[in-house]
Amino acid sequence: MSTDTLIDALRAAVGRSHVLCAADGADLSAYEQDWRRRHRGRARCVVRPGSTDEVAAVVRLCAAHAAPIVPQGGNTGLVVGGVPDASGNQVVLSLQRLNRVCALDADNLTLTVEAGCVLQTAQQAAQAAGLWLPLSLASEGSCTIGGVLATNAGGTQVLRFGNARDLCLGLEVVTADGQICNGLRGLRKDNTGYDLRHLFIGSEGTLGIITAAVLKLVPQPAAQLTAWAAVPSLQAAVALLGLTQRKLGPTLTGFEMMNAYALELVARHFPDRQPPLQDRAPYAVLLEVADVEGEVHARARLEATLAEAMEADVATDAVVATSLAQARALWHIRESIPLAQAQEGLNVKHDISLPVSRIPAFCAEAEAALQGAVPGARLVNFGHLGDGNLHFNVQCPAGADAAAFLHRYEATVNTLVFDAVARHGGSISAEHGIGSLKAAILPRYQDSVALALMQRIKHALDPQGLLNPGRVLVEARLPASAAPAASARG
Ligand code: FAD
Repeated sequence: MSTDTLIDALRAAVGRSHVLCAADGADLSAYEQDWRRRHRGRARCVVRPGSTDEVAAVVRLCAAHAAPIVPQGGNTGLVVGGVPDASGNQVVLSLQRLNRVCALDADNLTLTVEAGCVLQTAQQAAQAAGLWLPLSLASEGSCTIGGVLATNAGGTQVLRFGNARDLCLGLEVVTADGQICNGLRGLRKDNTGYDLRHLFIGSEGTLGIITAAVLKLVPQPAAQLTAWAAVPSLQAAVALLGLTQRKLGPTLTGFEMMNAYALELVARHFPDRQPPLQDRAPYAVLLEVADVEGEVHARARLEATLAEAMEADVATDAVVATSLAQARALWHIRESIPLAQAQEGLNVKHDISLPVSRIPAFCAEAEAALQGAVPGARLVNFGHLGDGNLHFNVQCPAGADAAAFLHRYEATVNTLVFDAVARHGGSISAEHGIGSLKAAILPRYQDSVALALMQRIKHALDPQGLLNPGRVLVEARLPASAAPAASARG
C-alpha cells in the first residue's frame, strides 16, 4: 500500500505492475521527458490500462480525486503536449498497451485499431492485405494512432490524402467523466447531428481520451516513384508545384522543399547522405508520385514533366530514382534534416503554414527581419511545400554559443516569424499542434471569438478541467459573460 489513495485505487483497477511510481524506484524518464529533451516534468504516476474499460475506470478514479490526466501515446509530439508538468500532480495515462489491430474490412476499405497501435504497425496491417494507409511521418515507428489523431498529424502525403483527420471515419473516446462514447463506425456518409469525431481529432487530449479508431484505406498504387529536382528560387519551387499538379494530377502525393543550408547540415553530420545532384541550387524539391497505371507509364509521365520544368527554368536539374533503395535514400536525406539540426546544436523551430502563393514573399520578409534582429542567424527552411507547410527553423550564427543564443533570442525570433505569418494569412501551427509550447501565444494569433468558443467547448466537455490542463488553452475558464447568473436562475 502506498500513502497515495489514488495510486492504490489505480492499482486495483489495472493491476499493480501497470501503475509506475518514482517512489517505488521506477524509472519514469521515458514518460516525463519530451522527444526534443527540452522539457522534463514529474508525474504523480504513470498508469498503463490494457482496455477501453480500464481507461474509463482510470478516468473516473482521477476525476473522483480531482487528479489532472496527461494522455500519452508514443511521446513523439513536438509541442510538449504529452508529458507532465513539474508539479508532480499529473497522472500520465499511457495508451501503449491498447495496441491491437482489431479488424480489417477489405470491401469497406477500413482498418480498426486501438489508440496505442503504432502507426507503422497499422501501415503494415494494411499492406499485408494489399491496401495502403496513406499517412506517413518520420516518427511512424514510434507514434501511435491515438497520438496522430489527437494532433491531427500531417506527414508527406497530405497533398493527395489530407491530414489524419481526413483518414478517420470513426472514433471511440473516453469522456472526461469516464464514459465510453462509441463512434467506431466505418461510414463515409453519416449526417446524424454534430460530428463529434472532428472535435476530438486535433484536440491534443484536452477533450477526451481516444481509445480506438476506424481508418480509411485505399488500394495500393501500381507504381510509386520518387524524384529530386534542383530549383533556383522559392518562386520557381511554387511554379514547379503548379506545373506538376497540372501535369500529374492526383498522382502527385508529395512535394517537399529543402533549402541548401538544410542539405549542407545533413551532408556534414551524415556524410553518407549527400544530395543526388551535382547542381547545388538554393533549393531542392523531393516529389512523390503514386499511380494506378504501371511503372513504365508513370515514369514516362514524370520524366516528361520534369523535362518541361527544366525547359521552363523552374528546375535546373532533376533525377528520378530507379529503385526502391534509391527512393528510400532520397527520403532519408529529407528525413535527416531534424536530426542534423539537433547535431548542429540547439535551435528555434517553427511549424507554420501559409497560402502557397504567399510563401516566397513571406520567406523574403521573415528572413530580412531575422537578419535585422540576429545578424548571421542561419535559416534551415524545409517542409511540405505542397501543403503550404514550412519548418522555418533558426540556428544560431556560426561559432556562437547556441544555449546563450536561445536564451536571448528565442522569444524575439518567434514573435517576428509569427507576426509575419499572421500578416500573410498563415497559421502558427500547421501540423504539430499547440501543446504547452504555444498555448500562451495562441491568444495573440487566434481569432478572439474562435478562442472564446474553444473555451466553452472545453468547459462543456471537461468541466473540472482535468484533461491535459494548460495544453492548447492556457486557462480553460468560462468567460464571465457566459457564466450562469445565479440570481436569474433562482
Ligand atoms: P504523443 O506525443 O504521445 O502525444 C501528442 C499529443 O496527443 C499530446 O497532447 C497527448 O496528450 C495527446 N494524445 C496522445 N495520445 C492520445 C490519445 N489516445 N487520446 C487523446 N490524446 C492523446 N507530426 C506531423 O504532423 N507531421 C510530421 O511529418 C511529423 N514528423 C515528425 C518527425 C519526427 C522525427 C518526430 C519526432 C515527430 C514528428 N511529428 C510530425 C510529430 C509527432 O510525431 C506527431 O505529433 C504524432 O502525431 C504524435 O503521436 P504520439 O503517439 O507520439 O503522441
